Amino acid sequence: MSPSELPWTAPSILSRRQFTVGLAAVALSASRLARADRRPRPDVLVLGAGLAGLSAALTLKRAGAKVVVLEARERVGGRAYTYNELPDNPEIGGVEIGNSYTRMHAWASEFGLDIEPSKFPRGLTVHVGGVTMDASEWAGSATNPLAESEREIAPNRLQGHYLRQDVPLMRAELWDSPRSAAIDVSISDALRARGASEAAIELINIAGTHNHSDRMSALIPWRSVRMFETETGVGRLAAGTDELPKAMAAELDAAELRLQAPVGEIEVGKRGVSVTTHSGEFFHAAQCICTLPVGCLSDVQIKAPLSTAQHEAIDAIEYTKVSVALMDAEPFWEDDGLSPNMWTDTPLERIFPRTNRATGDIVGLKVFVNGDGTDAIDTLSDQAFASLAVDTIRKIRPASQGRRLEVRFRHSWGRDPFARGGYAAWPPGKVSAYRSALREPVERLHFAGEHMALDAPGMEGAVQSGERAADEILRT
Ligand SMILES: Cc1cc2nc3c(=O)[nH]c(=O)nc-3n(C[C@H](O)[C@H](O)[C@H](O)COP(=O)(O)OP(=O)(O)OC[C@H]3O[C@@H](n4cnc5c(N)ncnc54)[C@H](O)[C@@H]3O)c2cc1C
Repeated sequence: MSPSELPWTAPSILSRRQFTVGLAAVALSASRLARADRRPRPDVLVLGAGLAGLSAALTLKRAGAKVVVLEARERVGGRAYTYNELPDNPEIGGVEIGNSYTRMHAWASEFGLDIEPSKFPRGLTVHVGGVTMDASEWAGSATNPLAESEREIAPNRLQGHYLRQDVPLMRAELWDSPRSAAIDVSISDALRARGASEAAIELINIAGTHNHSDRMSALIPWRSVRMFETETGVGRLAAGTDELPKAMAAELDAAELRLQAPVGEIEVGKRGVSVTTHSGEFFHAAQCICTLPVGCLSDVQIKAPLSTAQHEAIDAIEYTKVSVALMDAEPFWEDDGLSPNMWTDTPLERIFPRTNRATGDIVGLKVFVNGDGTDAIDTLSDQAFASLAVDTIRKIRPASQGRRLEVRFRHSWGRDPFARGGYAAWPPGKVSAYRSALREPVERLHFAGEHMALDAPGMEGAVQSGERAADEILRT
């Protein structure tokens, strides 16, 4: 397939693509060269300054390579994002650091950042079918739609109840192996095979960390179970998750880290990789590591001999939609005696208490909506969402009437153009094929990021993949 046949579209791209005649192209090349001469000539371009991009860049820089990191946002960290405008510094993205996250622990320790054991909220309030109850009342509730054998299981534990036992995946690192193809089934099918009722699957779909259980492979939760089976716990970066990417970025100078530089085009040539940003800035290096989430690649014009399988994977991989909202709340839970930790079948899905990191006091609420449920709220204006959130909480927790409740911030990861979601939601039946397609470097263009992790999920997968891509380059 020639570059001009590639199906990429880049909506707001570059005036230089309007040049179609040879003369203009020559003039452009000359001006590009002149511009390129004035800036540092990196050995490696790293696209994206999330945990994968920064771990790749630091690994390369420390080994003596010249790097330039191009990041679309005005901040580093990507999906590791702490909202520092509120006193409790709540997390909008990645939080939990498994004790088995060896590389995350190593980087944090190197920068003197403490990882403290996570504290989880006590109790659970369930709201289903218009009735609010303590989780202890769930089994006997008239609104509990579950089969007799599963009535006692709280809605937030249903998926784990069925998928954490008798995991057919032998080891975490086999999750994308062709040997696992026979168990690469949808989460829905895995649940049914283990006896879950349709009512249980419906509840799981309300707040499960997938868009819909029909569309994500059960290999993903099974990988997590295997990965975490030796776990003795999880922790959090005491000062906020984003302190790690910030500390990593501080090791790069201004010429090495370019913020607000969204990549519009990547061109792989015989002598290296050229990258052009939306504003028309041009960069060239012998090698390039692309850590952009797969969902974002569709917005970038890639002129490279990608295989048909790579095109198919990039088009087909969904990202889990997640929307987060932070609310200030006076402590109405002290009045009704129910936990502020809520699982609901309302549009707000799950609501967690936010705590002051130092004192442990509850200072507000965090609304967490997953999957297809985000479609309804993401289309609302801030004002309409705020009304919905406040009205919903007042309805399900009447004790909040007359108490202050206010939305302070919201973020949709699904609508974030530089994330397109929370995690790669690998579709059932395709895990091995898509993973092996994307793992292949395209000549001098290497891929890294959470979606390229070998066995670890989330942030650990991101840093491991970045280090691995850097090592690949250093070996050559
Ligand atoms: C709500 C939520 C909760 C999570 N909870 C956990 C958790 O508890 N534990 C855990 O381990 N993981 C968790 N994760 C996942 C974890 O945060 C991510 O897997 C990890 O941070 C991904 O790192 P990355 O470097 O691969 O990608 P990213 O952090 O997404 O980095 C990619 C970078 O590329 C940039 N970019 C995108 N497009 C362009 C472009 N065109 N040009 C230039 N730059 C571009 C982005 O701005 C971004 O900075 C969570 C994620 C979310 C969203």
